[in-house]
Amino acid sequence: MSTVLVFATDEDLFAELVTAGEKIGDEVVAAALGPAAEDPEVPGASKVYTAQGDGLDEYHVDPVATALSEIVDEVGADRVLVGGNRRGKEIGPQLAAKLDAGYIVTALEIPEEGTFRRKFMGGKTMANEVPQTDDVVATIAPHSFEPATGDPAPVETIQVSPGKGRVERVSLEQRDEEGVNIEEADVVVAFGRGVEEEDDMELVFDTAESMGGVVGCSRPISADLHWLGDDRWIGLSGKVVTPEVYVAAGVSGQIQHLAGCRDSELIVVVNTDENAPFFEHADYGLVGDLYDVLPAITEKLS
Ligand SMILES: Cc1cc2nc3c(=O)[nH]c(=O)nc-3n(C[C@H](O)[C@H](O)[C@H](O)COP(=O)(O)OP(=O)(O)OC[C@H]3O[C@@H](n4cnc5c(N)ncnc54)[C@H](O)[C@@H]3O)c2cc1C
Repeated sequence: MSTVLVFATDEDLFAELVTAGEKIGDEVVAAALGPAAEDPEVPGASKVYTAQGDGLDEYHVDPVATALSEIVDEVGADRVLVGGNRRGKEIGPQLAAKLDAGYIVTALEIPEEGTFRRKFMGGKTMANEVPQTDDVVATIAPHSFEPATGDPAPVETIQVSPGKGRVERVSLEQRDEEGVNIEEADVVVAFGRGVEEEDDMELVFDTAESMGGVVGCSRPISADLHWLGDDRWIGLSGKVVTPEVYVAAGVSGQIQHLAGCRDSELIVVVNTDENAPFFEHADYGLVGDLYDVLPAITEKLS
């Protein structure tokens, strides 16, 4: 019998991981560590193992990977799926190293048991990968699987000894810009060089607020103009987002930008140039001036 252990630092991802786990194992169990161990609700899993210990509250990578490897041994899991947010992508490889397991980077699909499908070459290509090891660790991109439903799994506390880890965090400083977790937003309103002045960004922020979303941008806005921080920069060299709705206003849609947003569920493009490459990837395309279109959306939704 094959047991899949699922783990996430974001509780919302557990149910998606359970669905993914059901595709590759006979039984799916979950590990809820640190804050998630308080009152875990994981529908569809057969059990949730909770654990507390040094470093788990802040999801320090080394202690979390150690704790997970102990839980894997305890429950006899041979596959581990980790929620592929930023922290999950740090924990996954370290856990794989501890378990001497094959590691799959940010899978989007599991087309058949044992095969993981993920983006390759900035999303231009899809790769099917088959681990050649008995044990497997894979990070799973958020929003790639339907959340499992059902009753919350029964909870069992498990003892782990994560230790302090090999790296100690000696200080934390607040960055000037308010941080934004764009990778987990349901709605992203992104803009590019079609916005002419820094002050005009307000139009985009207003639209994002009216849609209950967050603002993202193309690389020039962050890297060249420094209007926004790199936590909002989307693309090959920036963040990869998969929101339910992605609005791109005044973004041409070069391949490097598309690499960060092409898996969004619904893409809406606003551009004055009817030949802008982004239109080829749009579910809804609007040839128009963002200075007219965005305020109209904001007014309609406010
Ligand atoms: C190695 C490498 C990595 C890169 N990584 C990234 C990355 O991660 N992310 C990224 O974004 N880019 C990346 N780039 C840059 C990328 O190639 C493009 O140059 C960039 O995405 C273009 O940004 P843009 O669409 O904002 O600007 P532009 O290409 O200048 O497009 C602006 C668009 O706005 C439209 N427009 C103008 N005025 C209006 C208006 N009033 N209303 C509506 N539309 C209007 C124009 O028609 C045009 O289509 C990378 C490049 C390289 C070489």
